[in-house]
Amino acid sequence: MAIKRILVYPEDCLKQKAKPVKIFNDPALKELVQDMLDTMYDAPGVGLAAPQIGVSLRVAVTDVDWKSEGAEKNHQVWINPEFLWKSGETEITEEGCLSLPEIYGDVERPNAVRLRWYDLDGKKHEEDFDGFQAVALQHEFDHLDGKVFIDYFTPLKRRMITKKLKKKYLS
Ligand SMILES: [Zn+2]
Repeated sequence: MAIKRILVYPEDCLKQKAKPVKIFNDPALKELVQDMLDTMYDAPGVGLAAPQIGVSLRVAVTDVDWKSEGAEKNHQVWINPEFLWKSGETEITEEGCLSLPEIYGDVERPNAVRLRWYDLDGKKHEEDFDGFQAVALQHEFDHLDGKVFIDYFTPLKRRMITKKLKKKYLS
């Protein structure tokens, strides 16, 4: 069990396009995923992407319900995820991010998606998601492309937030 430091935006790894995983069923990959889960639950958060702990690989973990009352932990691991389809219909959700502490804001995203991804053993999966799960997955997988939710804001707002985070956490 290892809880890793969560990078704060605009640290470099959060702005880089992450590389695909090539070797599955691998102890190092399993350890990375375990560290990500430990870090996510400790934070506490409902999703975490590998670049958020400084590892530039296309891996993310989520557990969107565990913080609701009476819910049990039930995590999912997403490796090399790829959207096959996104709905034309959108919804606006207030988002936050472990890498942008205390920053929240509305983001408009497609409200349903079809996803292809791989599990730890390299098995391929395809499934449709909607509602909060669809939004959470889009947020997490943006991290794999070096993108964060404030990238949807105006340049001015983004600059103000970046300045604030740098001053508070990175100086
Ligand atoms: Zn995030």
